[in-house]
This record gives sequence, structure tokens and C-alpha cells, in this order.
Amino acid sequence: MANTVFRNVRIFDGLNDSLYPGEVEVQGNRILSVAKGGEELSIEGKTVVDGGGATLMPGLVNTHGHLTYPAVTTLEEMGRMPVEENLMESVYNAKLVLDFGFTAVVSGASGKPRLDIVLRNEINRGRIPGPRMLAASPEMTVSGGLADANVWEREVPANGLVADTPDEFRKLVRLMMREGVNIIKFNNSGDSFCYPRVGSVINPMTPEEVRAICETTNNLGGRLAAHAHADSSVLQCIEYGVEFIYHATFVTDRTIEALEKAKGKHYVTPAFGLRYNMHFEGAPWGITQEVSEKIGNKREFDATIVNMIKMREAGIKVLPFGDYGFKMIPLGTDSRDLQHFVNYFGFAPWEALRAATAYGGEAYGVDKLGQVKAGYLADLLMIDGDPVRDLSLLLDRDRIVMIMKDGAYHKPLPENWGESAEAAARA
Ligand SMILES: [Zn+2]
Repeated sequence: MANTVFRNVRIFDGLNDSLYPGEVEVQGNRILSVAKGGEELSIEGKTVVDGGGATLMPGLVNTHGHLTYPAVTTLEEMGRMPVEENLMESVYNAKLVLDFGFTAVVSGASGKPRLDIVLRNEINRGRIPGPRMLAASPEMTVSGGLADANVWEREVPANGLVADTPDEFRKLVRLMMREGVNIIKFNNSGDSFCYPRVGSVINPMTPEEVRAICETTNNLGGRLAAHAHADSSVLQCIEYGVEFIYHATFVTDRTIEALEKAKGKHYVTPAFGLRYNMHFEGAPWGITQEVSEKIGNKREFDATIVNMIKMREAGIKVLPFGDYGFKMIPLGTDSRDLQHFVNYFGFAPWEALRAATAYGGEAYGVDKLGQVKAGYLADLLMIDGDPVRDLSLLLDRDRIVMIMKDGAYHKPLPENWGESAEAAARA
């Protein structure tokens, strides 16, 4: 296949604070070269795509995705959904997020034990559209912990795998690694979601259980993600090298200092959108502001703001997205997080985009992902407009005019795009 040269584009490269005019050449599944300013790439024997002044940027990376969670409001409902329906929802979700520019997703737990694995495999075989994806286990939890949605009369295979001793957890980790997950996910804190059971500041796992999960995963070459609201939970993540720390809501300043020292080993994904939507938009599902206060969601909302501001200032990599997919926070609206990062955590818009692309790509952990730069994987978007000036463009599928994953189009630029009157106006 001939190389493709994108010309007449403005580039957001993932790291820089502003757009610059340039040209980008893609060979196979990688970016071969990037020309800046007036420089021109040779186009002989190549397919030329005229961007008509659109923005070319890296695909978005979600490091806390739940593509195999069906759109429900409670974990109990999720547990009741049969695997067949759940699989169809997952296939739908995978295409939906790619349509919104997410070319890579680190799963933050699977809806059922093998769903992430089969979804990832089918995407990789090219039979269904979806982002590149790291498959996770369901949430490993203790009896009564977050994601233990079982009921006494009936064992339901849900998004929780329940164990209560180090040996039981070792076995679960080994089984999930055998089945092919990339990520072992465990819940070493509660959440307002499981009100009135374990709240966010409670760590229901013993240190021995956490150690058994982490050591077994590390021994087998897996990677770790933890649902960790409580300070003690985050400290365990630091101690055992858990790369993906989800929430980190109630950390103390000392723990932030420890995270700062371990910079580069951890990524913090607060999943703030869920807190926001539960508080401000949950009423249709019975989560009024009063309920949000009562179950502890508002407290999580407030503490997240305080601590993410501190973490950003300390240079800890705080990443957007996470926990989209429930009914009150639908998939496809994930990029609202970018505006939340600006409005609540003090990020400049370009910093939010950097976290969503370059830092997310680094966290995903394959060779060179998340930047527009020679040698990087060709996961690219073209946006009709300047997303650094207007982050809401990423919420509009129609403004995401081109989507390429691994050098292949999911959505090619419309025919004659570069010649249109709008293009002339943009350029
Ligand atoms: Zn989650």
C-alpha cells in the first residue's frame, strides 16, 4: 500500500501547547515523518490527503475504560444481564468509542470474566471495529466489597470476582492470566456506589490479600489496576507497583509526596465525570443531590477536586476519562472530562489534551503511542476546528472528520474535503 501524506493540516502533536501547520506521512501502521511550517514532504507515488486546514492530532487514549459494562445504573443490574446480551452491548460500545476518537483503551475491569478478552481478540482480528485495547479481569473484591453484587439465593457471574484469603486471590489471578487478560483489577477500597456497605475511606482487603494479588500478577507478567479511594489503598498501590491508580480521592499530603517520588511508575485516573454526573445529573435515575450527599458521592466529588489540583501541581500524571458507560454517564460523552479537568483541576486545555493523548499513550505501554511524531503508531484524528481552543469539539462525532487506527481508516475524510468552501474558510 502506498504511503499517505496528510497536507494542509494544523498539528496538535500531543505535547505542544499550540497547533502548527505541517504535513504528516504514514507508512504502514506508523508515522514515518512530520514536516513543520513551510517544509514539504515528497508526494511522489504517495496518496495525498488534503486536510483543508483541519486539525490533525493523536487518537484519544482512555486509561480507565469499561467497554464491556452494559449501560445500567447499578452493579446488581449488571450482574443480572446474561452474557449474550452483555456481549452484544460490548461490541456496540467498542465501535461507539472509536467513533468518538478513542483509538486506545486500557480496560479498568471487565463486565464478566471473559468479555474483555474476546472483545479485544475480535478487534485485533479486524472483524469488529474498536480501539486497541488492554483486556482486564473483572473487579477482584472481597465478600461485601465493591462489585460483590451476588445475592444469597443465587450465584450470579457479575463484574466482581469474590475471594477472601490470599490463596483464593492467587488462584483468581492465575485463572484470569491463563484466560488472557493484560490487566488484573482489584478493589482495595469501597465506594459511594456500594452504599450502605463499604464506603470510599474503607479498605476492605487485608495487606496479605493485596500482596498476594500484586505479587502473583507481577510474577506472571500481568499489569495492575486498583480501585483505590482511601489513603491506605493508594499507599498499597505505591508499595506494590500498581500502575493504574483509579480515583485516589482521599490521599493525604504525605501520600501525594510519595506519589511524586514514584513519578513515572503510576498514573492516576480520578474518573471525575462519574462523581459529577451522579451529583448534577443523576436525578432521572433517583440520584438527587440529596442522595448524592447521603451516599458520600458529594464528599468524593469535593475531595477529588482538592487532591487533583495538588497532584497536578506536583507533576503527577493525572489522566482524564474513566467509568463512562453507566446510564447516568453514557459512553460517547467521555470527553466531557477534558472540560472538567480545566474547570475543576486547573489544567490548561492543551494540558488536558496532552493527558488524553501523549500521557495516555505512554501509560498504555506499547512502543510509541499518543503523539504525532516520526516512529509513533498511526492512531490519528482530524478535527474540524481547533480542539485546543474548543475542547467540546471532541464531543461532536461530526466534527471528528477522520479517524485512523494502526494506519487503517475507521473513518476516512469525506471526499473533496480539502476543496470545499468551508475548507477554504478554515485555511
Ligand atoms: Zn472503573
